[in-house]
Amino acid sequence: MILRNSNILLLSAVCVLCISSCDNSNKPGYQKSDNMNNTTRKAEYAIVIHGGAGTILKTNMTEEREQQYQKALDDALMIGKAILEDGGSSEDAVVETIKYMENSPLFNAGRGAVFTSEGKNELDASIMRGSDLEAGAVGGLQTIKNPITAARAVMDSSDHVFLVGEGAEAFAKLNGLEQVDPGYFYTENRYKSLQRIQEREKEVGMHITDMADSKYGTVGAVALDKHGNICAGTSTGGMTNKSFGRIGDSPVIGAGTYANNNTCGVSCTGHGEFFIRYAVAYDVSAMMQYAGKSLEDAANEIVNKKLMDVGGSGGLIALDKYGNITMPFNSEGMYRGYVTDTEKFIGIYKED
Ligand code: ASP
Repeated sequence: MILRNSNILLLSAVCVLCISSCDNSNKPGYQKSDNMNNTTRKAEYAIVIHGGAGTILKTNMTEEREQQYQKALDDALMIGKAILEDGGSSEDAVVETIKYMENSPLFNAGRGAVFTSEGKNELDASIMRGSDLEAGAVGGLQTIKNPITAARAVMDSSDHVFLVGEGAEAFAKLNGLEQVDPGYFYTENRYKSLQRIQEREKEVGMHITDMADSKYGTVGAVALDKHGNICAGTSTGGMTNKSFGRIGDSPVIGAGTYANNNTCGVSCTGHGEFFIRYAVAYDVSAMMQYAGKSLEDAANEIVNKKLMDVGGSGGLIALDKYGNITMPFNSEGMYRGYVTDTEKFIGIYKED
């Protein structure tokens, strides 16, 4: 009997070893395995971030630039981690982490925003709280330093969800948010991207809002705090050469951002028009809620099947109520990373 028990123990140990060595969690798009049968929390707290998806190839990157991105992602994650570790809310973690990325010229959000066809910077952001489905969003801001703080103010201090243009600016000012001169958002790289696109536009004789030349860099964060609350946020300058007041998916609740404590939190990056039409962020939650899919399967289905089939390039970051994390993308790369109470990961390329 004792012998049989020890045989069973040995067999179980071999199975566990085999399962962990067959784990796909390090493959692109499968960075963290997910298991809906696992009803216990995998992480006490977690935060996952992205800094945009697109044609991000090692061959196009200098070592110095790569290090700058690695450091910026790491710094951003550490800001969120400190808040969550301390028992702070997922909202604070998301806002402070995104604020840091908005203040960096590396990302297409806040300071490093891309230019419109008129040579302006028009910023969009959104935030959603999974505990009560409250949300706030802003579009077309030109003088608010940190659009994510304006989105949060809409969520916390207004009866509305989505404010745009002059009204959104007025609301942000009324709420005492920091204002800057529009020149604050000028960066030479982004301006050169606009010039390149507009030259090409003349050559081909049609309007282009080029993802490849916009250098990407929309930012997003999704956090799960110690109290089990999920929050998701996204901030962007949109797409280079956008015109006629174009607003992408980033501030659209259900498209670029979604959070529900019962399912997951999601922040997207990519060609916004596709993400709006496919209600990408909500689709992940809906597939979990109505089709019983795992976080990873739901996210993979929308990014690598539905969007892929129609040429909608980009990716998303998401986490569920157990602390499972997934970061699929169908482009060459995506600036991304996560940290939990036990793990940390930062990646840029597919092979990371
Ligand atoms: N999704 C953003 C937009 O379409 C762009 C991006 O993620 O890079 O505005």
